Order: sequence, then structure tokens, then C-alpha cells
Amino acid sequence: MKPTVKASVTALRKRQQLFVQQGNIRAYEQRITQLKNLKTAIMTYEDRLFDALRKDLKKSDFEIMFTEIAFVVQELNDHLKHLRRWMRPKKVKTNLLTQPAKSYIVYEPYGSVLVIAPWNYPFQLAMVPVIGALSAGNSVVIKPSEHAPYTSQVIEDMMEDFFDESVVAVVQGEVKETTWLLDEPFDYIFFTGSPKVGSIVMKAASKYLTPLTLELGGKSPCIVDETVDVKSAAKKIIFGKTINAGQTCIAPDYLIVKESIKPQLVEAMKASLLEMYGENSSNEFYGGIIHERHFDRLEALLKDTKILVKGKTNKEKLHFPLHIIDAPKDDHPIHHEEIFGPILPIYTYQNDEEIEQLVRQEANPLAMYIFSNNKRFRDELVETIPAGGVCLNDTIFHIVNPHLPFGGRGRSGNGAYHGVHSFLTYSHQKSVLQKSSHFDLSQKYPPYSPNIYQTFKKFLMR
Ligand code: NAD
Repeated sequence: MKPTVKASVTALRKRQQLFVQQGNIRAYEQRITQLKNLKTAIMTYEDRLFDALRKDLKKSDFEIMFTEIAFVVQELNDHLKHLRRWMRPKKVKTNLLTQPAKSYIVYEPYGSVLVIAPWNYPFQLAMVPVIGALSAGNSVVIKPSEHAPYTSQVIEDMMEDFFDESVVAVVQGEVKETTWLLDEPFDYIFFTGSPKVGSIVMKAASKYLTPLTLELGGKSPCIVDETVDVKSAAKKIIFGKTINAGQTCIAPDYLIVKESIKPQLVEAMKASLLEMYGENSSNEFYGGIIHERHFDRLEALLKDTKILVKGKTNKEKLHFPLHIIDAPKDDHPIHHEEIFGPILPIYTYQNDEEIEQLVRQEANPLAMYIFSNNKRFRDELVETIPAGGVCLNDTIFHIVNPHLPFGGRGRSGNGAYHGVHSFLTYSHQKSVLQKSSHFDLSQKYPPYSPNIYQTFKKFLMR
């Protein structure tokens, strides 16, 4: 729905919260029913989804399957398979001071979750957060992106068709409607988007102290040393930078390359680009830019740069081939702005110490890529440079493993999800200490004897 008054958003949030409180989607079987329902919905709407994603972002069928639909179904299958085990209360040890007792953790749903999604993977980034929320026993209000209108409409139709609004509802809109939603005391907020809007969301959440996850963006470095197989590294870098025409939160934002191998790497990347997408990246596997504003922003970023590899752009068709450039002068915006498109600047280094200096200028990247056959070099960078996640000798693929938590730190986000990490994100871990009703240590109550004081002191302070 596209709300016309704020009151309808309030009513929806209240209805969902009541529905969860009444225990309608808490039990294992009830959660499984919701997840299976979502799977059926996706299968039913598959053709419409393909069509919408082609229209919104000119994604190829392979990318739609690999990065959107199959990605979501893989996540669903993981939850369907493991939820029973994840939900089981977890026994933990009981320490001496609380004996005799049992201790365990219960995974409790938060209530009604607000999921705010971006436009770049408009289906995946709306659905994967929904799966986690449902699997943890919550209801969900989805706010899809207004910039991917075809996909957002399919998401709305699909949810209306398959879910009661008390379980999953879709609210369409722009800043005004999102602000209405953020004004509501939801029980959890899951936001994916830019750091700028992330801070607006965090501020709104602070009003009710609503717990939240922020999945943000930033500048992800890709480091290449002289020990690599240049051809193989080039191919993997080009893949990571051109998938969805560079509009990927974890795309390598910039390269840091050992100076001695830069010429070979540039040539190898040029060859890989041609091999994958043909002349001027014009085959059907190369995607489009989301809208004219984003296209203009990318074109402006190319100003005052030395272009090493280029293509012919076409604004009408929103076609923007990959441009590989030399790192520009110090005051250029490309040093600090997330590129989020097919432009790849190259910085070079001679000594390893320069790498950390370069990366730390834009601290806490969402992803970091290291291409090297030198284990010591890789280990040192992994240990010393903070980042949301790392992929060694490849790009992007760390996001595909649901056993790895996916998320950023600081400017690139807060919290993580995928697989069991989603389940944990959306569950409050409620501590339970069950004491014995038969035995109680009388010495723990006043009036205390000096002896017990000394005994405790000796025991605790040793
Ligand atoms: P965005 O922050 O502009 O928008 C995200 C959502 O916030 C949209 O639904 C939008 O309607 C809403 N929004 C926009 N302005 C708002 C405002 N003033 N108040 C309240 N809500 C507002 O992000 P985007 O342009 O859709 O996506 C691109 C960004 O998202 C990039 O920075 C990218 O790196 C990041 N991203 C991160 C991940 C991740 O998993 N970490 C994934 C994809 C994209």
C-alpha cells in the first residue's frame, strides 16, 4: 500500500505487534508455515520478478537468478532446514555462586520488524531480511525502494497475495512515507542503504531505543601484490566490479596495486572486460545504471581523471561501461565518495606500509579484497586492517556463504545477518536461570556473619 495518512501506518504497526503478542507466529510449525508460504510466493511470481528486474536495472537473466532469486531461495532453504535446531533453548554452564541451578538461553521474537531496502538488489535485499525476521517469529513491514518501482510493485503484489498483513505487509513510498514509518515504535529496524540515511534511521530508532541493524556501504579496497597470477586476479576483479554494473555495496571500490605489476594488471583487466561483455560492454550480460541522476553523478566523478580503460557511455540507454582510471589528485571527490558504479581507480604502492595508510583514510570498509600468494602478507592485512568482511583471492563470494555473518562496522554498518546470524539478529537472547526450590544457601542473606564475608572475599578475590 501507499499510505495517504500517517494513521494507517500506525494502525498497521499496532496490528502486527498484537498479532505477534498473541502468539500466532511463535511456534516452530507456525514459522515454518510462513517460510514455506514465502517460497511458494517466490516460485509463483518468478516470471514477474524476472521481468521487473530487467526493467529496473537491465539485469541479465543469469544475474537475476544468481544474485536475486536463487540467493533468496538458498537462504530460505537454510532456515527451513535448520530452524528447529536454532530455536531450541541453549543450555549454558552455571557458575558456582548461582548453584544449584540450571541456565539456558531462550530465543525470543522482538515483535514487528521494519525492513527498509535499497534499489541495487531490490528483491534480495528486501527478502533476505524478511526471511530472518519470520524465522525468528516476528512480523514484518517492508519498505522497498522507490527507485526500483517495478520490483517494488511485484514485492507488494506477491505479499498481498500470499500473506495476511498482520504477518507481512508492504508500505510503498519515498522519504515522507519512510519518515512516517520511522516515527513508529517498531520492535526492530533492519536498514540497508547509504551511511547518510543510516544515520537518520539510527537517530529515529534512538527515540524509542529500538534495536536495529544497519547494513551500509562505503569504500571497499582491493589489494593486489606482485605474487599473484595476474590474469586470474584481473578476471575476478572485473567480475566483482561489473556485476550489476558496479552498483554493488561490496564491489571493489578501488584498487591498491604493487606498482611493478600495474601495467600487466591493467592490460589483463581490459582483456577480461572484453571477453566477458564484448566490445563496449554491449552484450546482454552487462547491466544498466539505475537512473539519470546516478548516471550524471558517475560522469561527474570522471572529471579531472586520467582514464586508462574506457567505453562509450549512453545516457538515454543508461549504459555506462567500466572506466579504469589512475587515482586522481588529492582533492578529488573519488577519494572519499563511495563510487557505487563502473569506475575503478588504481592506487599504487611500493612498500607494504603504504597500504594500511591508504585504507585507513576511509576506515571500516564493508569488504576488503586481497589478492596474494604470500600467506604472511595476507594474514597481516587481515589482522591489522578493520573491515566488515574479507575475501582472499576473489571478490564478492564471501557473501554467498550463509555460515559467515555478513555486515559492516562503524561507517559500513552495525550488526550482521545471513543464515543462523539472521536468526540471532532477530531474536532477543533471553537469559533464564532456574534455581532449585529445595535447596537455598542461608548465608547469602543478612545478617551476614564475618566468617562468610571473609570466605566470599577469599573465594572471589583470589
Ligand atoms: P538510500 O540510503 O538512499 O535508501 C535506502 C532506503 O532509505 C530507501 O528505501 C529509501 O526510500 C530510504 N530513504 C532515502 N532517504 C531517506 C530519508 N531521508 N529518510 C528516510 N528514509 C530514506 O540507499 P540506496 O541509494 O537505495 O542504496 C545505495 C546505498 O546502499 C549504497 O551506499 C550501498 O553501499 C548501500 N548498500 C548496502 C548494502 C549492504 O548490504 N551493506 C547493500 C546494498 C546497498
